Amino acid sequence: MNDANVHMQLIWLRSDLRLLDNTALSAAAARGPTVAVFLLSPQQWREHDDAPCKVDFWLRNLEVLSRALGQLNIPLLIRNAPHWDDAPAVLLELCRQLQVDTVHLNEEYGIHETRRDAAVARTLKAEGIEVRRYLDQLLFKPGSVLTKTGTYFQVFSQFRKVCYERLHHSLPGLVRTPAPQAPLNIASDAIATQVEGFEVPPQSLRDLWPAGEEEARRRLDSFTDVQIDYYQSERDFPAKPGTSQLSAYLAAGVISPRQCLHAALQCNQGEFESGKIGAVTWINELLWREFYKHILVGYPRVSRHRAFRPETEALAWRNAPEELAAWQQGRTGLPIIDAAMRQLLETGWMHNRLRMVVAMFLTKNLLIDWREGERFFMRHLIDGDLAANNGGWQWSSSTGTDSAPYFRIFNPLSQSVKFDADGLFIKHWLPQLSGLDKKAVHDPAHLGGLFGVADYPAPIVDLNTSRARALAAFKNLPPRQTAGSHHE
Ligand SMILES: Cc1cc2nc3c(=O)[nH]c(=O)nc-3n(C[C@H](O)[C@H](O)[C@H](O)COP(=O)(O)OP(=O)(O)OC[C@H]3O[C@@H](n4cnc5c(N)ncnc54)[C@H](O)[C@@H]3O)c2cc1C
Repeated sequence: MNDANVHMQLIWLRSDLRLLDNTALSAAAARGPTVAVFLLSPQQWREHDDAPCKVDFWLRNLEVLSRALGQLNIPLLIRNAPHWDDAPAVLLELCRQLQVDTVHLNEEYGIHETRRDAAVARTLKAEGIEVRRYLDQLLFKPGSVLTKTGTYFQVFSQFRKVCYERLHHSLPGLVRTPAPQAPLNIASDAIATQVEGFEVPPQSLRDLWPAGEEEARRRLDSFTDVQIDYYQSERDFPAKPGTSQLSAYLAAGVISPRQCLHAALQCNQGEFESGKIGAVTWINELLWREFYKHILVGYPRVSRHRAFRPETEALAWRNAPEELAAWQQGRTGLPIIDAAMRQLLETGWMHNRLRMVVAMFLTKNLLIDWREGERFFMRHLIDGDLAANNGGWQWSSSTGTDSAPYFRIFNPLSQSVKFDADGLFIKHWLPQLSGLDKKAVHDPAHLGGLFGVADYPAPIVDLNTSRARALAAFKNLPPRQTAGSHHE
């Protein structure tokens, strides 16, 4: 297909569905004529509980990316590798067919991802094909931000301090966008509009998350132009558009953390730990994203859905399928919880404050295993990300690193009054409560008797007794064990 002197390059796209600031793509194109490939792996995706709306988002972004790559004469091929175990053979065949010299990929960090990439590298190397990996999804390579004794940080503020030092020293730069290459005479594959087993989400959900780098950039620019200044004061109020809503784009790699960091620095005169409080706080969140991915590598048991704090594995979680179903379907009788769960089901996204509130409610008031919540979130989130989701769930359930102390249990009613004072968020998602005043809307059960809302359930749990039950369960745990890292 190509002459013997041409060194054909293959970029294997995964969670880096963009043209701009894509390290592996840029490196591939700099070395020679480049072809891109994406693997469809529905069996693996099902094992990972990837949400149908997330798979749909990948496909829609691939469609846009294929057109953008086409303008550079880089064909995008689609291959089926139902399980990641199939990836080595599928890629080997493609490399042989195209006489590929080097495969380029941006690193991914879960256990399965790491194993897959090692197997692919072994198989290709045996055939004389080189695999080059790049740091792209993160600002710092996992294993490069360590304590003085060489272990992974378990406390976010200490991790962040070292990140700040590193950023002062050298800021990760953006990589070059590839120039158009000579046409290759290889046609791009059509992008499927659906993958079997993952239903297409309603158009109303799709419309909330338009595909493509331009949309991601538009969000980033409009956020950093204005909203970032109010981020610190507005980010906790779910009725306000106070956050960037970039998580789906970051998770699929439609935008890079470097692009986000640079945009935030630009509106704060290059400062990340001083200057505008909004920008500093937002960069702090980008570092939480970073932290949880480092934790995933440093403490691989969290990648296997094991508790970061081993002693919490002994917790007497309740088996309460009906209460779990009520939580999942947004009919617990606690408006802020139910409104949040409706937001998740209808939009594929939930506000961060509410993710914490519903996660605490499930794991503390209902005393249901955090893994149930983690899985349900993953099955519905368009931004579902193993590290951030696991980190968030283990934070909320007090089983994780640097997590909420078990005795500091959020009261959903106080959270509701504090962060949705006028009940606007609740009324949007639970219109049957729209007639209630701003006091009653948080707790319609309190109206009692005749004044109750006809089609709204009574709370499934008493907040005081369930809080006491959770405290007792956590108190009974054996003493804290020190968390081991790599060697487990
Ligand atoms: C129980 C629970 C589960 C979560 N699951 C996920 C998940 O699957 N995927 C996901 O991306 N985030 C998850 N988060 C973190 C956070 O809720 C979302 O990143 C955030 O709500 C996304 O909205 P945004 O893009 O407007 O965020 P912004 O407030 O604008 O933040 C910018 C970016 O920083 C990152 N970020 C922000 N907060 C966090 C955080 N606490 N941890 C890690 N990264 C963060 C995200 O990439 C986000 O897009 C979870 C949090 C909790 C408490």
